[in-house]
Amino acid sequence: MSNTLLHILNNDCPHCHQGKIFNEKSIFFKFNFPKMNEYCTHCHYKFKKEPGYFFGAMYVNYGLTVAQGITTYVIASFFFKETFDLRIIPIIMAVIVALSPLNIRLSRLLWIYMFKNYSS
Ligand SMILES: [Zn+2]
Repeated sequence: MSNTLLHILNNDCPHCHQGKIFNEKSIFFKFNFPKMNEYCTHCHYKFKKEPGYFFGAMYVNYGLTVAQGITTYVIASFFFKETFDLRIIPIIMAVIVALSPLNIRLSRLLWIYMFKNYSS
């Protein structure tokens, strides 16, 4: 299980763990729209199995964003006297915007790994 998490964070192919899913070395600290390889460069595993395949990754992205928003709220609430201070909202928004490029990549990686054994 922890190996799977490492492969996801390393942007590895779910089939051979040698090729890369995204055409970039690291999925972190990138602010452009991700460029995905259509096939694995090592084993030719097809990442996009059908048209609209990554539509479902949007739900994973939503889940990640909500989890990060709640985590940010819990951490930020320690720095304010009131339980729900309105000044926390811009902090949450800034964190969500800052993490959105990572979430796009991470949600697609999670989606590919969730259905890696599914053959169409
Ligand atoms: Zn591969």
